[in-house]
Amino acid sequence: MRVILASRNDGKLAEISVLLGEEAEVVGLAEHPTLELPPEEAETFQENALAKARVVAQAVGEPALADDSGLEVEALGGAPGVRSSRYAGPACDPRANNAKLLREMAAYGAGGRGARFVCAAALVAPDGREWVTRGEVPGQIALAPRGRRGFGYDPLFVPAGHDRTFAEMTAAEKNALSHRRRAFDALKKYLAAL
Ligand code: IMP
Repeated sequence: MRVILASRNDGKLAEISVLLGEEAEVVGLAEHPTLELPPEEAETFQENALAKARVVAQAVGEPALADDSGLEVEALGGAPGVRSSRYAGPACDPRANNAKLLREMAAYGAGGRGARFVCAAALVAPDGREWVTRGEVPGQIALAPRGRRGFGYDPLFVPAGHDRTFAEMTAAEKNALSHRRRAFDALKKYLAAL
């Protein structure tokens, strides 16, 4: 089963190929250099993921996959949420995002720093059938950044039941429990049904 990933991010393509394993051959958009993906402007991860997968499935005529993810912090009413990548501004700078998150969390002690990473994964068939799944990993926002691996908010996120941040874990350790792993595991049964 060949599916097109609605993303131009090679790192994401590599990661999702590993997560889906034998289930699918995941290819990127290299064969479609002019195809424009819609902006991630919806208020939910699910709608953003579906919008990207729909555009690609319709334009290419093959099954398409997309995801959208972010960090929801309880004390901040779910922010940064769907605005995770641009939390500190349109430059989408992860250091600035982490610095802003720590500033916003300054008033909250160890007991009030609950958060979760969320990922929605969408699969759209060219005949219009659609499936969307959600994966979450609960945890805490650390008091200061720790670790050099990963990306985005990884240096500030300690998954529940662990002492280290995602940025202190190996890619294999993070991938075993991540929100993306959970969302794409749930999507496998729909890929099998296609
Ligand atoms: P997108 O799903 O590629 O649009 O990612 C949205 C944003 O959410 C990223 O730019 C990061 O800021 C944040 N994010 C999503 N997943 C992760 C993760 O696994 N680690 C750290 N940050 C993440």
